[in-house]
Amino acid sequence: MKSMIYLDNAATTQLYPEVLEEMKPYLTEYYGNPSSIYRFAQKSSHAVERAREIIASMIGAKPSEIYFTGGGSESDNWAIKGVAEAYQSKGKHIITSKAEHHAVLHTCAYLEKQGYEVTYLDVDEEGMIDLEQLQQAIRPDTILISVMTANNEIGTIQPIAEIGEIARAHGIFFHTDAVQAFGHIPLHVEDMKIDLLSASGHKIHGPKGIGFLYIRKTVKPSVLIHGGAQERGKRAGTHNVPGIVGFAAAAKRAEDGQKAIMEQEKNLRDYLIRRIETEIPFSLLNGHRTSRLPNNVHFCFRFIEGESMLILLDEAGICASSGSACTSGSLDPSHVLLAIGRPHEIAHGSLRLTLSETTTKEELDYVVEKLKQITERLRSMSPLYEDYLNVARRA
Ligand SMILES: *Cc1c(COP(=O)(O)O)cnc(C)c1O
Repeated sequence: MKSMIYLDNAATTQLYPEVLEEMKPYLTEYYGNPSSIYRFAQKSSHAVERAREIIASMIGAKPSEIYFTGGGSESDNWAIKGVAEAYQSKGKHIITSKAEHHAVLHTCAYLEKQGYEVTYLDVDEEGMIDLEQLQQAIRPDTILISVMTANNEIGTIQPIAEIGEIARAHGIFFHTDAVQAFGHIPLHVEDMKIDLLSASGHKIHGPKGIGFLYIRKTVKPSVLIHGGAQERGKRAGTHNVPGIVGFAAAAKRAEDGQKAIMEQEKNLRDYLIRRIETEIPFSLLNGHRTSRLPNNVHFCFRFIEGESMLILLDEAGICASSGSACTSGSLDPSHVLLAIGRPHEIAHGSLRLTLSETTTKEELDYVVEKLKQITERLRSMSPLYEDYLNVARRA
């Protein structure tokens, strides 16, 4: 067994060596600025355009609709602020959900301070939005619906095509944060009627600090970065050529292996869920059972403090998370767990395990054994658990 078991692939992934190999020439040999005119620089510009084609074809877009950015957060910010600014004369109302990533939620909160109105849709116990509630939230001044494709904490996959249908029928733009979904599950901007889509390189075994925003030709968000003519004059700055090449290489690899990897991960995911549910008392699965990312396992353990669990798992060589890398270090329970109705004390005992294609059954067996020991140990020290046992004994 490997000396470290990495089960935090929703936070970030390992850059694949093959991806690095494709990047290398653009870090050293072909260092030309893609905007320069000589043939040497065309090595770089051709690589950027090839990458754009690869990514566009994966989601059914045109290459001219793919804009490279500095990552998922930047893409989310641009999609929402860019549409809000450009279309404010049409209206200042935005619809999103309570379970979005902070890159979306904090952007919406910022816009509220600027005089926009935001409706935050509820999610049910499994993390799904209600299409009926979405319909009812639409107003004449609604300009954008932003709902994530798949949740980064609990893995729930939203009914994206249905949301796209509703948005299109009302002439409202539809943005989806697909950072956890792109490369992992099939996506198609035409079939799903998506107008803007965010994705990121480092969630699919590509490099960090590179992402893209798909912007449908008919949508004209405001300029993100003023400067040079890069990215059709909308996002200035010299291209991150090695990052772009690596992102496309990782995307291509993800697409080629997608069917097999999905199958393999789903099997392991369900194996792990089954073992935890049957072997660890007071464990509650979070997220939808089937409309779920193939690599996501997320539980709450009653009478357990999540942070302590992570530290003990780390001591056992296991990298895991309590939900979101962005909220760790803060004592607030996850907004996603609160949105699905978990009470504070239960939301605090959360654990997210996210697999990759290199995860093995043996690794998961080891994790379950360690988890059994850790939950027993932490509960034996928990006054809440003791109270519970006393009440149960008296009953
Ligand atoms: C990771 C993540 C982001 C942020 O992407 P970065 O490239 O790290 O900025 C946004 N949304 C979701 C759903 C994510 O999982």
